[in-house]
Amino acid sequence: MPAYWCELAWLGGERAEGGVLVEVEGGRIAAVEAGVATPPPTATRLDGLTLPGFANAHSHAFHRALRGRVQRAGGSFWTWREDMYELAGRLDPEAYLRLARATFAEMALAGITAVGEFHYLHHGPGGEPYADPNEIGTALIEAARQAGIRIALLDACYLQGGIGEPLSPVQRRFADADADAWVARVGSLAGADDVRIGAAIHSVRAVDPDSAAAVAAWAGERSAPLHAHVSEQPAENEACVAAYGLTPTGVLERAGALGEHFTAVHATHLEPGDIAALGAARCCCCLCPTTERDLADGIGPATELVRAGASLALGSDSHAVIDSFEEARAVELDERLASGERGRHRAAALLRAATRGGHAALGWADAGAIEPGAVADLVTVRLDGVRLAGWTAETMLESLVFAATAADVDGVVCGGRELVRDGAHLELDVGAELRESIAGAWA
Ligand SMILES: [Zn+2]
Repeated sequence: MPAYWCELAWLGGERAEGGVLVEVEGGRIAAVEAGVATPPPTATRLDGLTLPGFANAHSHAFHRALRGRVQRAGGSFWTWREDMYELAGRLDPEAYLRLARATFAEMALAGITAVGEFHYLHHGPGGEPYADPNEIGTALIEAARQAGIRIALLDACYLQGGIGEPLSPVQRRFADADADAWVARVGSLAGADDVRIGAAIHSVRAVDPDSAAAVAAWAGERSAPLHAHVSEQPAENEACVAAYGLTPTGVLERAGALGEHFTAVHATHLEPGDIAALGAARCCCCLCPTTERDLADGIGPATELVRAGASLALGSDSHAVIDSFEEARAVELDERLASGERGRHRAAALLRAATRGGHAALGWADAGAIEPGAVADLVTVRLDGVRLAGWTAETMLESLVFAATAADVDGVVCGGRELVRDGAHLELDVGAELRESIAGAWA
């Protein structure tokens, strides 16, 4: 039975533990023992601090090609969206597979062992379906496999260009004819040990209430993850209230979407009633702080959501950066700027959102923790670098959340398989893959 001896490991509490022996069988953790002072001779030694795998609960893989290229003077979320649409109009399945594999491999280097790919670029130019109508979705699954991480393919229903508005030419690539056509297409996708098939309602902009109810019913019948972009921008709320007399959360609640399998992505501009509804239904809220600040979205009410009963997950969404430590600390630090208060979120709670909370939102309730029965994901952070110098055993989690970066991730075991060693992917030259696939996407 393979075994790992961790110099230090975080087992889910407020402190890291010393000398933790983790035994692995069949890709899962079989046993965990803390306080083992001497590594057994047969165990692989993991120096530094070992964490469970991070989950990136909200990703659009192709947005990675936008990084650095869409920072121009003057603009808004809506002008950024025009740039994103230009890229979306260019990709074909082959280019997208290469770009997604590189993006997912960058995630692996950052300690991310599962991604929630919110997938809406379904069809060919002009909206013509490929011979296999799930060709791009299948390519995304293949990309995650080649990068070595698990994927929840959250296939997004997208039907209209805005509330009561026709699709623009590029949006035709995103759209199915109606909710029945979405159900028929998604029904032919199959999950596996390392793949979950989930549903997404792109937004109340892109999906009318009756169709949202059909997607929610499909997910509910299967206990599949159901995600939706919710209240990312004030204009979305205004249009929704004007059309339906309800907020986006209200529309989704009436459509039967809310519940333990539902994840509200962003949840930035919420009314008090929205927070109460999301909390009462024990929904997950996936914050994407590095994207939300990049797109000038705003700061979501994370503290109020947690108080109301919601759980949190984190996503890198547009991949302005891919760094789960940065997402985690931004939840707390953005609230400090807005509230004038410090210490609303404990470091351990932020790490739980980045790990267990995210995996659960993707359909892996049995991942994101170092405990018997969990998927064997082990992410080791080196402690001998400059950023974490001065760490103490008592404040280890605070050092990690408030000062570590993805570059401090030294080793990754995903599902019992070693994927990253000494900070390098064992199978892919990730830098070269990124450079070539991004150049190819824009060619
Ligand atoms: Zn998104």
